[in-house]
Amino acid sequence: MNIAFIGLGNMGAPMAANLVAAGHSVKGFDVAGVSVEGVQSVDSIAAAAVGAELVISMLPNGAILRSVYAELVPAAEVGACLLDCSTVDVQSARDVQQLAANAGLLSLDAPVSGGIGGAAGGTLTFMAGGSDAAFTFAKPLFDVMGQKAVHCGEAGAGQSAKICNNMLLAVSMIGSCEAINLADKLGLDRQKLFDVVSTSSGYCWSMNAYCPAPGVGPQSPADNDYQPGFAAVLMLKDLGLSQQAAEQVSADTPLGAHATELYQKMVDEGQGDKDFSAMLLRLAQQA
Ligand code: NAD
Repeated sequence: MNIAFIGLGNMGAPMAANLVAAGHSVKGFDVAGVSVEGVQSVDSIAAAAVGAELVISMLPNGAILRSVYAELVPAAEVGACLLDCSTVDVQSARDVQQLAANAGLLSLDAPVSGGIGGAAGGTLTFMAGGSDAAFTFAKPLFDVMGQKAVHCGEAGAGQSAKICNNMLLAVSMIGSCEAINLADKLGLDRQKLFDVVSTSSGYCWSMNAYCPAPGVGPQSPADNDYQPGFAAVLMLKDLGLSQQAAEQVSADTPLGAHATELYQKMVDEGQGDKDFSAMLLRLAQQA
């Protein structure tokens, strides 16, 4: 397939490389002038769109996505599908898809989980929002860049699923850290706590698969001095989007709001580049 890729950063570059490795013809554009082996670099969004059956974007935020689509939509080929894999606010995702629909183009929001490792290994999970026709069109490419793609609903449903998941992840990670911190203060061995919780009703991904205590449970960023993984600053971004969405639809998310405050503090204290599980260190430092 002829594919255009816009935004070749930490995530976009390896995703584009995997498409090339699978035999697709890929043109790439990034404002930073990044080049990726096997991807034909072009110098504008419009040049990337020429001849592209599918245009993938992987961008920092909703404002940039809107500005990219303002150039992309008029330049896209008739019948092309626009696939945005960035994590952005739900309203921006819906608005750019409306723009695409008005021009007769297929489109999807399809944010990912799996991080840089998942992008490089082609093991991302895609959460997609948009029409059945767009999802069917993009499905073979999801299979190249990832291991799972869930069609969550109409425009914006992918972004909605992503922020709900990550809000829950933040809350469960903080809960796991609090349990370990309390156990420490009570003189309970961390390994014993893990042995109980991981097979009892407190089990959750944050404890069982990504334990925030070093030397306990499977290998995780805690065992590597909290190198990310998933940086606290990226978790803060997703929590900000979840709280923005919650406000817009009047959803009560008190723990999501509190998690946002705690990750904001971690970032303000200069710990934003640490893995989000380093919340344990922060709790341990509090009186
Ligand atoms: P990044 O900052 O490394 O990459 C973004 C790229 O977009 C940069 O190379 C930048 O130059 C380019 N860009 C900015 N404005 C542009 C424009 N107008 N036209 C063309 N290119 C432009 O970020 P990333 O880590 O690759 O993340 C991309 C998206 O994926 C974000 O929305 C992020 O939230 C999401 N995400 C990241 C991770 C992760 O672990 N890094 C995990 C899941 C989701």
